[in-house]
Amino acid sequence: MVAEQLRPHGVTDEGVLRAMAAVPREEFLHPKMRRHAYEDRALAIDCGQTISQPLVVALMIQSAAPAPDEVVLEVGTGSGYAAAVVSRLCRKVISVEREPALAEHASATLRRLGFDNVEVAVGDGSLGWPDDAPYAVILVAAAAREVPQALLDQLTEGGRMVIPVAVNSDDPQDLRLYLRGPEGVSYRSLFPVLFVPLRPG
Ligand code: SAH
Repeated sequence: MVAEQLRPHGVTDEGVLRAMAAVPREEFLHPKMRRHAYEDRALAIDCGQTISQPLVVALMIQSAAPAPDEVVLEVGTGSGYAAAVVSRLCRKVISVEREPALAEHASATLRRLGFDNVEVAVGDGSLGWPDDAPYAVILVAAAAREVPQALLDQLTEGGRMVIPVAVNSDDPQDLRLYLRGPEGVSYRSLFPVLFVPLRPG
């Protein structure tokens, strides 16, 4: 995966490559799906959701560039895979998932594999997670129609947020990197992506 899917497609950060190499993606999949674990694509998990494509996980984390002492908020835990990868590169991950069954399963997988610096919470991640805010990095793994103001408000100065945005559900989704600087928030587009929708509630 590292040699064939990640390095040739723009993942250059050695820390990110090491984290990707260290997390067994098959452990986050249903036993029936495990033989597909190293295919270069998103795969089905429970509740009609998906585990993201490894390349997209790696590029999102590389773009957000978490530092070892920083706290990361992830919206959309899903299988827990991306949370596990980013947990290797930061101090602590808070990951919010709206489907209780997914949150419970991801939390059990993370505990079983020893990812002790990840906390999974159930809730509407478009509201962020005020208890531990602000965050240096926010990773959103579901496509938003508009960027939730609560998430921008929970970024530290110098903070980075990566989020897919599509105004209409049929539009191509634009993966964006938001930065909070001393003069406010700005963003640039990274590349087109395909995520499940960010659902309210
Ligand atoms: N990062 C995941 C991929 C998650 S797919 C992984 O590595 O496996 C996106 C997830 O976002 C789904 O599990 C979906 O249930 C969740 N989701 C959608 N809207 C949400 C919301 N408002 N708050 C929290 N989670 C949400």
